Amino acid sequence: RVTVVLFTADLRLRDNPVLAAALRAAEHVVPLFVIDSGIAGAGFVTPARAAFLADCLADLDEGLRARGGRLIVRAGDVVRETCRVAAETNATEVHLASGASGYAQRREERLRSALTVDGRSLCVHDAVTTAVAPGVLVPSSGNSGKDHYAVFTPYHRRWSAERLRPVSPAPRRVELPPVRSLPLPGPGDLARGPAPAGLPKGGESEGRRRLAAWLRSGLAGYAAAHDDLAADATSRLSSYLHFGCLSPVEVISRARRCATEDEPHAGAEAFVRQLAWRDFHHQVLAAVPGAAHRDYRTRHDRWRTDPDELAAWRAGMTGYPVVDAAMRQLAHEGWMHNRARMLVASFLTKTLYHDWREGAGHFEGLLVDADVADNRLNWQWVAGTGNDTRPHRVLNPLVQARRFDPRGDYVRRWVPELAALPDAAVHTPWRLDGPARAALRYPAPVVDLTEGLARFRRARGLD
Ligand code: FAD
Repeated sequence: RVTVVLFTADLRLRDNPVLAAALRAAEHVVPLFVIDSGIAGAGFVTPARAAFLADCLADLDEGLRARGGRLIVRAGDVVRETCRVAAETNATEVHLASGASGYAQRREERLRSALTVDGRSLCVHDAVTTAVAPGVLVPSSGNSGKDHYAVFTPYHRRWSAERLRPVSPAPRRVELPPVRSLPLPGPGDLARGPAPAGLPKGGESEGRRRLAAWLRSGLAGYAAAHDDLAADATSRLSSYLHFGCLSPVEVISRARRCATEDEPHAGAEAFVRQLAWRDFHHQVLAAVPGAAHRDYRTRHDRWRTDPDELAAWRAGMTGYPVVDAAMRQLAHEGWMHNRARMLVASFLTKTLYHDWREGAGHFEGLLVDADVADNRLNWQWVAGTGNDTRPHRVLNPLVQARRFDPRGDYVRRWVPELAALPDAAVHTPWRLDGPARAALRYPAPVVDLTEGLARFRRARGLD
């Protein structure tokens, strides 16, 4: 008996219920990855993600080879290629992790019908890419009347009480029948263009190394320091979670264990709460796939268009140092601190009043962890079109900068033009006197904050 495992956003051997179930069902398992023309066609394979993905595939292949197998790579339409491999190997079943996006849901449906025609079955596994699967937690008597939670706090309460499945080890052996494979792709085979200079290495081995280091020396201080922009005191595990190099169930279980083994600490609780946000967004998107493109709850379609402003925001040249630092970090590392994501998103959608889709699209072009659920729904949350319970809150970049980068070290790190300024001036270079200001090669603010706020209030009918 032969089964096929179609790897998607679960590029790991440890705690992978899809692989474990396939191995239970048959002696021979074909570990398959399809370089999916549908995902590339949607513009989702950027140089940064291509480089990270190439590392993930190489690491997965190495792990499989150590167990007697290897990764089978095909390219083209994912459904057609999977059916082809199933037919070539005479497989009875294909195993797949469920996904929240509209694309993943359609892929699953298409695959199920195509396999059924051939007399094969599709086995879909939940709680692989999220800790709690979408649809498991539903409001008992919701005011929304929909099959998902629209507000985080009650979701989080239920989510925290949920018993997670046990974590499973990596398989000892993976044996496969003879089957043709393309060579493992390098970054250049997946996307054109250079990857960001500060890109981390991808893959399960690297993800596990980082997770262990984080639990050992980062987690305990997370509650106190996670918003400090310069301290860089967050896990940076998002890309490993996005590609499934790490299992969210394992990450949560190990973080919780750290807390009870030492003594309960706020770090683990705060960190696990962020992972609940991840599940929360995935369950919203699974129930409302259109939220990736349309306002989730409240319609705001009077956005401004100003190509120069948008270009200044994208380039990190708005004249607001903390916004510019964050945008330059994104371009350099393919990653941005969460607090910085919030404040640049608020600046674009509320201070400049540009459509959140412009910002979300730019993030998707650069972030390694770019995820339809987490990116699009966080953008909507900040823009006040999503599930933020305070949709009219505006994050003032100056207040944010003074609070989360009090000495200006984050700004100095990413905006070298301002590196020599003293703490008192680094967030407000426009207030320097004439000659000192003229010596800086740094733009004037793209908008006056009071004017931006007044415009926002008018547009939202708040005045
Ligand atoms: P940590 O602070 O160490 O958090 C641990 C994990 O929790 C993260 O790795 C991530 O998986 C999850 N997490 C943390 N915050 C959130 C959140 N607000 N929503 C969902 N999950 C969260 N995250 C993505 O993974 N992909 C995205 O495309 C993405 N786009 C975003 C866009 C905007 C406008 C905003 C405000 C946030 C976005 N986030 C996104 C959420 C968050 O910023 C990142 O997950 C986080 O910065 C990643 O860094 P970390 O791994 O060090 O996080």
